[in-house]
Amino acid sequence: MPVNLLDFDAEGLSAWFAQQGEKPFRARQVLRWIHQRGEDDFTAMTDIAKSLREKLLAAAAVSPAPTLSDKLSDDGTRKFLFDVGNGNAVETVFIPEDDRGTLCVSSQAGCALECAFCSTGRQGFNRNLSTAEIIGQLWQVNRALGSAAGGERTISNVVLMGMGEPLANFDNLVPALRLMLDDNAYGLSRRRVTVSTSGIVPAMDRLAEACPVALAVSLHAPTDGLRDKLVPINRKYPLAELMAACRRYLVHAPRDFITFEYVMLDSVNDSDADARALLHLVRDVPCKFNLIPFNPFPASGFRRSPAERVRRFANLLIEGGVVTTTRKTRGDDIDAACGQLAGKVQDRSRRTVVMSRRLAGPHTRLEMQ
Ligand code: SAH
Ligand code: SF4
Repeated sequence: MPVNLLDFDAEGLSAWFAQQGEKPFRARQVLRWIHQRGEDDFTAMTDIAKSLREKLLAAAAVSPAPTLSDKLSDDGTRKFLFDVGNGNAVETVFIPEDDRGTLCVSSQAGCALECAFCSTGRQGFNRNLSTAEIIGQLWQVNRALGSAAGGERTISNVVLMGMGEPLANFDNLVPALRLMLDDNAYGLSRRRVTVSTSGIVPAMDRLAEACPVALAVSLHAPTDGLRDKLVPINRKYPLAELMAACRRYLVHAPRDFITFEYVMLDSVNDSDADARALLHLVRDVPCKFNLIPFNPFPASGFRRSPAERVRRFANLLIEGGVVTTTRKTRGDDIDAACGQLAGKVQDRSRRTVVMSRRLAGPHTRLEMQ
């Protein structure tokens, strides 16, 4: 099997080059060919010595996960499905706006964390994506947008908000983040790359040390009682610990703030009292809120909060002094909105049986085991 060069960040590629008896600056050159020009053909890397090109041809390859489909929504959102093997596929969404182009990237095939309102969580978990499969999403979409060849639609921001929990795949995630920031690769600034987590506290601390990009935390409830049900990882890392981890994170990312994501579920977490409790909860954390109107999927058991309720909730937070935005739902017609990414997952966690039993029962989805 050839070595997949998409698995390496700059340091990893230099180390591999050293093993091949090549100079580290050659690694930087090859990195630029691969990630900036979107080149996967070593013979086209013309400023590289022929002997090295031949070595690469014999031992290496640039192999992203192949594209299974590429759908364009009426609003310009574009959803890609990538084949990650053995019947699994993950989704990546490009969201063009006037002043930016955001790519929403997946980190796992499925997710093991079972948040009650999430379609990915509902499907079960298969495996972590490799670094090549994570950065390969950028590589592929860049090529599809024509940016690698100097096209005008470019990826200016990356959010790890697709399928999976990025911090549950830490070791493969970090080299991919480093490539996103590397001037010889995608050259994005630290604040334009956002990792979204459901709150895996020890991994938040590790990320702060390894690569302190912007952090979004999926909060979704103001109390442990409710959050235990909606975001079950809360039972392991309850709110007090999560808030302390957010404060520690910001020590490594000065002048930053935490973005708290909050999915608005009708009559579940959207009351005035919930808004007030949130303000109290986050009082010591420099933050802003991003309210996400719930995106329904079949048999979810939840409803989206009415628009008026979302507005009032947002106003309460704003009056309490916290910058609050409400996420526009994009790509509705192609099921590309937050929480609707389903891809294709062969569940190896054998949770589906439990889930379907639970769904068949008389209770709502809030009654978690
Ligand atoms: N696993 C990570 C990142 C992926 S989910 C996390 O949980 O943060 C990205 C965001 O979409 C999270 O805030 C998640 O809670 C939210 N989300 C999940 N399902 C949703 C749905 N059906 N409607 C709206 N947002 C949803
Ligand atoms: Fe996993 Fe995030 Fe979905 Fe929760 S919301 S199940 S952590 S992808």
